[in-house]
Amino acid sequence: MSPTHAPAGAARQGSLRELNLALVLGRIAAADRPPSRADLATATGLTRATVSAVVEDLLAGQLVSEADPAPRAGAGRPARGLVLADTGPAGLGLEVNVDYLTVCVVDLAGQVRHRTVHRADLRPVAPEDALARLVDLAGHARADAARQGLTLAGAALAVPGLIDDSGQVRLAPNLGWRDVPVPELLSAHPALTDQVPGVPALMVDNEANLAALGELHSRPPGPASFLHISGEVGIGAGIVLDGALFRGVRGWSGEIGHFPVHPQGRPCRCGGRGCLEQYAGQEAIVTAAGLVRAELPADTATARLAELAEAGDPDALRALHDAGTALGVAVASVVNLLDLDTVVLGGGYAPLAPWLCPPVLAEIGARVLTAAWSPVSVRPSTLGPEAAAVGAAGSVVRRIVARPAGWLGRAG
Ligand SMILES: [Zn+2]
Repeated sequence: MSPTHAPAGAARQGSLRELNLALVLGRIAAADRPPSRADLATATGLTRATVSAVVEDLLAGQLVSEADPAPRAGAGRPARGLVLADTGPAGLGLEVNVDYLTVCVVDLAGQVRHRTVHRADLRPVAPEDALARLVDLAGHARADAARQGLTLAGAALAVPGLIDDSGQVRLAPNLGWRDVPVPELLSAHPALTDQVPGVPALMVDNEANLAALGELHSRPPGPASFLHISGEVGIGAGIVLDGALFRGVRGWSGEIGHFPVHPQGRPCRCGGRGCLEQYAGQEAIVTAAGLVRAELPADTATARLAELAEAGDPDALRALHDAGTALGVAVASVVNLLDLDTVVLGGGYAPLAPWLCPPVLAEIGARVLTAAWSPVSVRPSTLGPEAAAVGAAGSVVRRIVARPAGWLGRAG
């Protein structure tokens, strides 16, 4: 027999341990209340002894901790439940957008432990300078995380554009970025995180996709299929079907901002005409309301619009109604195509939802064939303006939970 048998057997044993670690940690992550070791044995079909050994590894690696036991009537020592740890590995989430940079840290349990939003118009800033500012903010986040007993195990960066498999930004029209080699530019700086096997040091993804993932994994859980629309200067959509992001063949799905709502209409930065962004993008709404956007930072522009609408300002109300109508035309097409029943308005749209939802619903009612029998719900996101960065950090955390052996073996 070949002498390779022993290593192959060892490899099988190693992979079995990895599978058991992932199985038990996955159950702890998905549980509604902290499961005991006995609960985990029942749920996984593993023996009590195996579960105990796996749990010891997870405790030693700071992936789980023991919850305080619930007081129990009657005799006997209450079993201690297990929860995801609030120290140990964490994910770093980053976002570059047209008028802000965001950095956040999310722990294994999904809690946001650090967040920084830096407001600045980044259109005149070279990509390498914008990324250098982001690295600086990330350094502060890493130090703050360390003070809280957290280690950054990986990072994900959200960009409002088309990103290829290598992390290169092919095109971010509103930032003016074209063929920007983000991983290469970042490699000139100190590492953002600690290297952990199985967790990419940096993933780059579209901000609308990451915001949709943030919404998908928020608590309490919402529907498994929905359309999430991020309304910033540009408009992006994340399509979630049966609990998974639909990325398209090349990862470039969701460019709803360039749906032609008036085919012969205003020229767009993409080279087309009459795109949704030209009627429902933040700049379009602000201009239609008679405000001068250049004089207002993004968050102020949205807050000012909401304030004016609240006060019944006719220009602001008309601008929001027209934007909502254009948005509704585009959303109705998506709903007709994909048969979705939930639309979430995120990013800068969330605070404007009281005025955007009625015209969006009116267009859906008029244009979606099935709306008469099956109403479509349109609601604001609850994640706030940092949804993409939170979703980015959460995507790192979910990779650790799916493959805990990488984290546990990092020292080896
Ligand atoms: Zn366009």
